[in-house]
Amino acid sequence: MKNKSAQQTERSYQGLAVANGIAIGRVYRHDSGDVFHVQEVRISASRVRDEQHRILEAAARATDRISGLQAEAKRMSGAAGEELGYLLEAYHQMLSGSRLIRGVQKRIASDLVNAEAAVMKEIGLMAEAFASMDDDYLSARIADVREVGRRLVEALTNKPMQSLAKLHKNAVVVADELSPADTALLDPNLAAGLVTTLGGVESHTAIVARSLGLPAVIAEDDILNVARDGDQIIVDGSTGAVVLNPGAATLKDFRKRRAAQMRGQRALRKLKTVPAVTKDGFAIRLMANIELPNEVEAALASGAEGIGLFRSEFMFMNRDGLPTEDEQFEALRQVVAEMNGRPVTIRTLDVGADKLGSALGMKIGPNPALGLRAIRFSLNRRRVLLTQLAAILRAAAYGPVRILLPMVCTVDEVREVRMALNRLAQRMRRSGVKLPDQLPPLGVMIEIPGAALAADALAAESDFFAIGTNDLTQYTLAIDRTDEQVAYLYNPLHPAVLRLIQFSAESAAAAGIPVSLCGEIAGDDKLTPLLLGFGITELSMAAGSLPKVKKRILDLNLTAISGRARRLTSESDPTKLRGMIDELAEI
Ligand code: PEP
Ligand code: MG
Repeated sequence: MKNKSAQQTERSYQGLAVANGIAIGRVYRHDSGDVFHVQEVRISASRVRDEQHRILEAAARATDRISGLQAEAKRMSGAAGEELGYLLEAYHQMLSGSRLIRGVQKRIASDLVNAEAAVMKEIGLMAEAFASMDDDYLSARIADVREVGRRLVEALTNKPMQSLAKLHKNAVVVADELSPADTALLDPNLAAGLVTTLGGVESHTAIVARSLGLPAVIAEDDILNVARDGDQIIVDGSTGAVVLNPGAATLKDFRKRRAAQMRGQRALRKLKTVPAVTKDGFAIRLMANIELPNEVEAALASGAEGIGLFRSEFMFMNRDGLPTEDEQFEALRQVVAEMNGRPVTIRTLDVGADKLGSALGMKIGPNPALGLRAIRFSLNRRRVLLTQLAAILRAAAYGPVRILLPMVCTVDEVREVRMALNRLAQRMRRSGVKLPDQLPPLGVMIEIPGAALAADALAAESDFFAIGTNDLTQYTLAIDRTDEQVAYLYNPLHPAVLRLIQFSAESAAAAGIPVSLCGEIAGDDKLTPLLLGFGITELSMAAGSLPKVKKRILDLNLTAISGRARRLTSESDPTKLRGMIDELAEI
């Protein structure tokens, strides 16, 4: 560690906030190594077999190292261990007899180059292919491909693995890039935070940093020229600010902010078992949205009273054929059992447009967002629907389950599903399948403007409503929710959307059925008074948002604001309306 010189000046950087929290520590530079500057050596045809053999041996060595890391990952608990496990498995597959290794062998022969150079060429091509796919998830996987390349070159050159084992206490790791494996194996008792110059908010590194609770920022390159080992550094993973060698005033300011943040987190954690009841005694059900079974742990840790939206698409992804009833049942049963008596709202397959696209042999129509999707697809492909319903019914024997239908627009769709469900249950019972005495409640997503405007009719046929404001906004305002060109117009607080939410909530109340809201706005605590004021009694959101929404509920006097919330929808100017919502949030 170098000594800090007296004349070091404070330098601030504004980067991309990746993982929340404030870290104040000392720089620990981590050099990801210059293995990428490998030398290309021309070889003679007679050496080709030797080089091909070298790459096979290197792949075996790299695989051994990965296996060692896999064993370590298994010992880690929680989401970080799981995330790392998936990742290492992916590395394992890329290394074992895969297209990559075969590609390298072919390239050695065709280009007559050494194995290291052949690895770099193949990795470059794979990275280019991923980058051209115009898909955030796949472009984030470029880092994984490069990591596998780095490991192969290290194994070829017998270079010892650079590790973060010598980390000092309170270390803020500053690096151009950290492999996710490095990140996950960081000791959170020693590491205080991370600053990298490469990567993305969706990268595995970012995911792992978040699950380890390490504040992280992606900053500009310059920080690597300036930061020296041992320099004092502040990382604010909530705002993206990084300060090198902070002066006394800055330090004091960030220490204060960090203390406040920690106090806030401690207070929120204490709320886990506190019921979500407003000051004037209205109980609100706070639920979690999940997309994968392994999110149940986070849902329970946040104090969720159940799963308000379990998106079932995961079972249909990354595979050629359709999942069998048994496969679906097993995945659903696991979640229902882990929720231990708390309700699980399973949404039937919501495919089409932005979800799963051309998978499942769907014919993509001229306007997929308005085409054969979600419940329309399920009713058109009865086998898919019945298999899924059978799996859900079987899972319902293990705890309370609700069935939720996506993109419903007419009452006939609900009737048709209910009829199919009743017949299916009868058939299953006759053949001795164990089902609960009462069939699960059947609810509909209100996410099409037509459904919202016909909410009174739908309420008569449904057991509950779940308002999906993500799609409701898209369809009401004719703004594709995935198109960044029109993202500035995407506004769930547009008067038209709010009126639809309000009418749906009132229709549910009039029919005496529960109504939840499970779009992204459910997790915005500034909107909690507005939504509860509309009469919504359940909110379902990402588990991480739940404690702050609960805090808002505990401070709220619902009787005092509900009249005002309801009147607010008579304002038709979106700007004035926003101001009024902000005022309501302040009450
Ligand atoms: C919604 O549309 O608001 C919703 C919750 O469903 P999804 O985001 O899965 O479309
Ligand atoms: Mg939706």
